[in-house]
Amino acid sequence: MTELLHMKDNYIREFDATVTKVGENYVVLDKTAFYPEGGGQSGDRGVLKSGAREAIVTDTQKKGGVRHILSGPPPFETGMQVHGELDWAFRHECMRYHTAQHVLSRYLQLNHGLETRGNMVKPRESRADYYPIDDFSKELIAETEKEVNEILTKNLDVRIEFMPREQAIEYLEERRYQTRYLNMVPDSVKSFRLVLIGAYDASACAGTHVANTSEIGLLTINKTKNVGAEKQRLYFSLEP
Ligand SMILES: [Zn+2]
Repeated sequence: MTELLHMKDNYIREFDATVTKVGENYVVLDKTAFYPEGGGQSGDRGVLKSGAREAIVTDTQKKGGVRHILSGPPPFETGMQVHGELDWAFRHECMRYHTAQHVLSRYLQLNHGLETRGNMVKPRESRADYYPIDDFSKELIAETEKEVNEILTKNLDVRIEFMPREQAIEYLEERRYQTRYLNMVPDSVKSFRLVLIGAYDASACAGTHVANTSEIGLLTINKTKNVGAEKQRLYFSLEP
């Protein structure tokens, strides 16, 4: 298994690791700070180097360990030491959008009883699906933008805390957070990673987030889309 360095620290941009597997167009390392696509967040990009050998990482996927997908055949061999560097501009954008989505979802849950049913986080424009709702009126969109931006500009600290599974579910249920999905997490996962945004939001999430909402800037809802069965998709952007 690959040790996931970003689980404890989302700000690791460079790291050293050992190649444990070489595939046709990917390598697996003993540890990595590259985020593998999951939970709606895009996989990281960047570069892996070993002496004069260099490989561009175009994507990161979880499949029998974390696969660093390369732009060509891997120039590395098993056992080799590599130095990894993330495409930080890309990753930080993912962190900003991901954290903003948590706040947006919490606002809509608390104030309009909406549940988040999936999301896709990536730079420039991200989206999330909400249920049950047939239509986001202009007024509701304007209100949501205004209120969410008010929360984001409160400069709330974002903390990561690991908690035993049962305790984490209890903690989240007591605070009326969405916990329905947590029961689907395999039993082998004994500890949950909680992401706490000030006193406003808490959730179990393995993604990457900024350390303070001041890094996010203002959010704009660009459009909505009916995705059926009382589900509406919101597309949003952040200040560059
Ligand atoms: Zn998250």
